[in-house]
Amino acid sequence: MSNARKEAIAAVTTFKSTAPPLNFKETPTNEIYGSNVFSDAQMKERLPKAVYKALQKTIKQYEKLDPSVADAVALAMKDWAIEKGATHYAHVFQPLTGITAEKHDSFLNPTGDGKTLAEFGAKELIQGEPDASSFPSGGLRSTFEARGYTAWDPTSPAYILENPNGTTLCIPTAYCSWTGEALDKKTPLLRSMQALDKQATRVLKLMGNSNFGPVTASAGPEQEYFLIDRNFFFARPDLVTTGRSLFGCKPPKGQEFEDHYFGAIPDRVLACMLDVERELYKLGVPVKTRHNEVAPAQYEIAPVYENANLAADHQHTTMMVLKKVASKYGMECLLAEKPFAGINGSGKHVNWSMGCALGNLLDPGDNPHSNMQFIIFCAAVLRAVHKYGDLMRASVAFSGNDHRLGANEAPPAIISVYLGSQLADIFSQIEAGGATTTKKGGTMTIGVDILPQIKKDAGDRNRTSPFAFTGNRFEFRAVGSNQSIAGPLVVLNTIMAESLEHLGDELEKELGGDPSKLPAAVQKVVSDSYKKHKDIVFNGNGYSEEWHQEAEKRGLPNLKDTVAAIPALLNPKNIEVLSKYGVLSEGEVHSRYEIYLERYCKDINSESLTALAMAKTMILPAGFRYQAELANTAASLKACGKNPHLGTLDKATELVAQLESAIDKLEGAINHTASGDILAHAKHFRDEVIPAMNVVRSIADKLETIVPDDIWPLPTYQEMLFIK
Ligand code: ADP
Ligand code: MG
Repeated sequence: MSNARKEAIAAVTTFKSTAPPLNFKETPTNEIYGSNVFSDAQMKERLPKAVYKALQKTIKQYEKLDPSVADAVALAMKDWAIEKGATHYAHVFQPLTGITAEKHDSFLNPTGDGKTLAEFGAKELIQGEPDASSFPSGGLRSTFEARGYTAWDPTSPAYILENPNGTTLCIPTAYCSWTGEALDKKTPLLRSMQALDKQATRVLKLMGNSNFGPVTASAGPEQEYFLIDRNFFFARPDLVTTGRSLFGCKPPKGQEFEDHYFGAIPDRVLACMLDVERELYKLGVPVKTRHNEVAPAQYEIAPVYENANLAADHQHTTMMVLKKVASKYGMECLLAEKPFAGINGSGKHVNWSMGCALGNLLDPGDNPHSNMQFIIFCAAVLRAVHKYGDLMRASVAFSGNDHRLGANEAPPAIISVYLGSQLADIFSQIEAGGATTTKKGGTMTIGVDILPQIKKDAGDRNRTSPFAFTGNRFEFRAVGSNQSIAGPLVVLNTIMAESLEHLGDELEKELGGDPSKLPAAVQKVVSDSYKKHKDIVFNGNGYSEEWHQEAEKRGLPNLKDTVAAIPALLNPKNIEVLSKYGVLSEGEVHSRYEIYLERYCKDINSESLTALAMAKTMILPAGFRYQAELANTAASLKACGKNPHLGTLDKATELVAQLESAIDKLEGAINHTASGDILAHAKHFRDEVIPAMNVVRSIADKLETIVPDDIWPLPTYQEMLFIK
């Protein structure tokens, strides 16, 4: 067996964790939780009362930040951080690369007398200026204009990042250009939350409510991921460079036994999960659930939902901690959407709702038919998704997700809404003139006397829907596992704001200033809107061919891949909705269009170069070696007067020849320079490079089935997925 593989397997089987064991008995979780966060409790304890109050107004009521409080906050934050061993502080931001970026500065400032002083004031807290020239700006800024600014986000608490050799104070920030354009994911998210708050507040007021405080969007993202032994990972240039395997034939056993989902979690993996959770607790990330997912070596982690901005920050942190901690246990955490062909990929289900002091506005309560508020908000969601489904689709479009969407394990690329039978029934009643009843879930008997009766939900679940109502929230299931959830949340908040404004206008018209007309007005507005937008509702099987045909009849777009989906960003109605609410200006939308298509080209380019290199330098040589071995054997047999069978040699020769020609074609496709704009380049990658890469792979995978195990250079799927 090739050395790398032999060593990898030896290392896996003899692995011993060097991570010190955790002891939750000694330090219970409630002591750990939030211990590295400059939390509300810390602020209350350390800040002058007036400062604390002013800051709370910004954090909880979204009031404008009073800049005069920043000095006191900075001082308290610095003292706290230094007590925690911090030597540096960092403005953390989310550039459009999709990952987080951080620039560290030491607290120390030379005083001129040969000494230093720890300095960190309002200026350092509020604003930073990392050189922006190397982050994507999509034409918003030329490279020579390098100025970019980070601005403190007081609504997402600062935290301490630990390292064995010291700690760093991390400050969540927004990131913009010198001209004030958003170069990041957080700025539009905050803007969209502000827009949603404004429009939701107006509708709630029209419905006779007062003093309910701001309306906040919430998110609870479920994260799927794979864990494989790092020794395999490093023996796989494709995993190292692209995050997914570009070669590998199906293992003899995949996921068809359905024995992994919710199965017992392997010890090493569970140890790693406990450590991940402990690190996340420290950072105040409210992680809650963990389990084995469907594919072998696939798992899931989910927090309790929180404010969407915080949830997005925490989601970034979660991905980072998963990666970091996994390596302590000798494993690599793969966050790519489809690390292994032929078994399930990973997604991120983003559960989304909005609430205020009145409660969750998407909670139907026990009698949704008479819950006017819920009905209006739900109708607004249906309208929003119907009108802007293409924008939602664009928000989850990137190369990794193309392997998942529409592949019958993830939602189809057609955006629709699953309402469930209870709500579908209520909206039908409203459409027909008025809703008077709610179908009840009731109880369910399992047929065993000793078991308790179980309360039955009013609707079943639907795993095939990209956007499903799940009891008191919508679950956006088309989000990729590797992706920041900020983009999808931006779209959801913004299109919801637009729908609420529209329904608010209608409601206002119907009411004509007379609050007693409310029930009739809601009935009229919702029934009108539902009639226009009910085509977005689909409660059936999203994988079926019939749905694809039906969706086409209904005029719902089916944007099959990134290259088809990204141009939707430039659809005039989409630019209009994003700019109308001040979420993204036309220029900012254009910049995203450029950046995301460029990113697609870069992704496919690096995948294809990796595939090419592996095919040329690892797989083809293995084929040659085997060919030579077979030829030598045949020649030797002949020399002894035996008549050798040449079948296997013929097969190997045939595959090697095919592989050589496929490699040439791939090389040609890569070297071709597409003329025209970025969209033309992206199309070239999609239509020429990817198919050429797929041909190389399919031949290589066939070779893998005949080349002797001891000369096959790459860890196999079977090894990576099952040797733990
Ligand atoms: P499932 O796999 O059944 O969908 P999980 O428990 O894995 O459920 O994840 C559900 C996610 O939805 C959690 O993050 C949970 O906190 C979140 N969630 C629950 N209620 C809401 C809500 N009202 N708004 C947003 N997210 C919610
Ligand atoms: Mg879910």
